[in-house]
Amino acid sequence: MTVTPDRPTPNAAADSENPTIIDRFVTANREYAVTFRDGGMDARPVRRIAVVACMDARLDLFAALGLELGDAHVIRNAGGVVTDDTIRSLTISQRALGTRSIALIHHTGCGLLGLTEDFRRELELEVGQRPQWAVEAFVDLDGDVRQSMQRVRTSPFLLHTDDVRGFVFDVHTGLLREIG
Ligand SMILES: [Zn+2]
Repeated sequence: MTVTPDRPTPNAAADSENPTIIDRFVTANREYAVTFRDGGMDARPVRRIAVVACMDARLDLFAALGLELGDAHVIRNAGGVVTDDTIRSLTISQRALGTRSIALIHHTGCGLLGLTEDFRRELELEVGQRPQWAVEAFVDLDGDVRQSMQRVRTSPFLLHTDDVRGFVFDVHTGLLREIG
């Protein structure tokens, strides 16, 4: 990348006394790599499972589910919604990389619980363009988990839909509650 002298570099706001969060990532990564050991695994998840979950910052999936590096595919978005792109990832996960089980994880206090499709209309008014995607907001957490399970089970692209289970993670207790 070339940077002309009169234009600020992307991290010009940062200096050694005020690192940005991404500067901190770079520093943390150097420390991580010191003790990192290549486990010798290939791209196929050891536990043959894909987890679809919300992007919520309070949800540490590896710790909460007892997962180790290399165990699972983790597909995350706002709400843990089963969108076309989620199906794309799940299809690749199953057909190219050998996973067989799918766990869906929503959680209490989700940011999507307070939104409606008005979000989309307001966005259109502001920027003059309607987004292609649905907000996928919901008011019924359990119902949304059921709908997500249904979308997975009825997808024609997936090979394995017999072991699909859905849960709500409680951000205050750390416990999963299964949705039947
Ligand atoms: Zn959420």
